[in-house]
Formats: sequence, structure tokens, C-alpha cells
Amino acid sequence: MIKCPYCRKDFNDVKNSRSTFDSSQIWRRRLCRKCGKTFTTYEKVRPDFLFVIKKSGKKERYSRENVYSGIYRAALSWKDKERIVNKIVDVVESRILDLGKKEVKTSEISDIVLKTLKFRNIKTFVRFLVYNKQPKGEEDFIKLFRKY
Ligand SMILES: [Zn+2]
Repeated sequence: MIKCPYCRKDFNDVKNSRSTFDSSQIWRRRLCRKCGKTFTTYEKVRPDFLFVIKKSGKKERYSRENVYSGIYRAALSWKDKERIVNKIVDVVESRILDLGKKEVKTSEISDIVLKTLKFRNIKTFVRFLVYNKQPKGEEDFIKLFRKY
């Protein structure tokens, strides 16, 4: 729980929240219920509590590693690839948290990855799309391409 910087009590309500510019953190405006003061926090997103429901229906704990390796595989050999992929995973994780769920489907995660990649790296987007959605032909590919 977050403590109020003025009175050190941990009773507070979130008045407002949004992602930071690069979406790697969540900005929250909090109101202390004890002393009535407002303060701001920046929280690094960590969806470790999440469960992922696989296509088979099997449930498993969310793994950053899985998301990372999926994007890493699709990404071309950039200089500084690890750092760039990590940054993309940060954005993806904050968007997963924005769903406000305790369980997410793998398809929801790959949809978020695709939406994130489309505006950041179109080549990686295309490769990820082909690996994950396996379009059956050109028409199918175009339909999927437009979806994200
Ligand atoms: Zn307070």
C-alpha cells in the first residue's frame, strides 16, 4: 500500500491515473483519506499477479519472458535489440494492466503486442502477425493488418 508523504498513513484513494508518455509507468493522483492532502505517485508496472489463459484452456502465471521472447523472435537484428524489446514489453505490460483484469487470454496479449508494434515497428509487426495469427492468404493478411 502507498503511504501518504505528509502523514504516513496508507488510506488513500486514486483520483486520477494515466500512463506516462512512454507508457512504462503509471501516474496516479492520490487523495489521502486521513489528512485530505493530494500527492502523485509514479508506479512501475509489474503484472506478476496475472494469470494467462492459453488456447488449450490451461491457466498459467503471467511470464514477462514469454512476451519478451515472442517479440524478440519477430524483431529484426537491430543494434541494441534487447533494450528496444524490453521497452516494447514495458508498454505491452502497462496496456495489459489497463484492461483491469486478473486473467487474460493469450490472444488478448498478442492483440496488445500487435497494436503496440504497429505504430513502433511495422516490420516486426508484420512478422509477429504472421507467426501468431497465421493468415491463410493475402486477403486474410490484409484483413488482419487492418484490424490492428
Ligand atoms: Zn495524509
